[in-house]
Amino acid sequence: MTRDQVFEFFRRLAEANPSPTTELESGNPYQLLVAVVLSAQATDASVNVACRPLFQRIKTPKQMVAFGEDDLRDAIKTIGLFNTKAKNVIALSQALIDRFGGEVPRTREELESLPGVGRKTANVVLNTAFGEETFAVDTHVFRVCNRSGLAPGKSVDEVEAKLEKIVPQPFRRDAHHWLILHGRYTCKARLPECWRCPVIDLCRYKPKTPPPEERRAKSNAARSASRASSKARTAKGRTASRPKAGRSRSRPSRLP
Ligand code: SF4
Repeated sequence: MTRDQVFEFFRRLAEANPSPTTELESGNPYQLLVAVVLSAQATDASVNVACRPLFQRIKTPKQMVAFGEDDLRDAIKTIGLFNTKAKNVIALSQALIDRFGGEVPRTREELESLPGVGRKTANVVLNTAFGEETFAVDTHVFRVCNRSGLAPGKSVDEVEAKLEKIVPQPFRRDAHHWLILHGRYTCKARLPECWRCPVIDLCRYKPKTPPPEERRAKSNAARSASRASSKARTAKGRTASRPKAGRSRSRPSRLP
């Protein structure tokens, strides 16, 4: 994509949703950090369901450590990989108390030094809690960037590096939210909803998904055509198996 096309891509996503943000619910940077750690390989909705009652009681690393691993495991048992995640959340809470005075650090290096915190989690926290212009590349962002040709790359690191390079102001801060939401609700994994996509003319993906009514009409036409051809085959088969006139159907007589 050209620079003008990239600008237009984000301008349209921004026009459709001027104030995007994460769908993970949290009340402070610590809760956001915990929610993002819990969201690995899980949906934001499932994390919110588990965290709503948890975050009523637990607002600080100190409260989490006092809560303990067993109770935490029980509180998040509806989320995938809850055993490992409970361990990590207790360990990272203890690390925040021991090394950062109970506060969430503001640098990538410090965040990534915490148990269970990788580059993507650090990027989300830096962006959403502290307003940094970071580009967290999750499965949705990776797919949208590759499909559309916005920032193609073989790995999440490659896509992140491309986004760093090409996303213009004033879209840098919210770019990853727009891309996540676009991937989650429009450019879906199994069937991108191209017919209602605001960047359809900028995207290089082919073939574009047509509107549902057009797909329905096509599949009805295909079904009718296949029914007609199967009827024709059956009729042909009947004709072929009919005995030719004048030919005897009796068994050959035995030889003397
Ligand atoms: S046109 Fe289709 S493939 Fe391209 S970004 Fe939009 S939804 Fe995704």
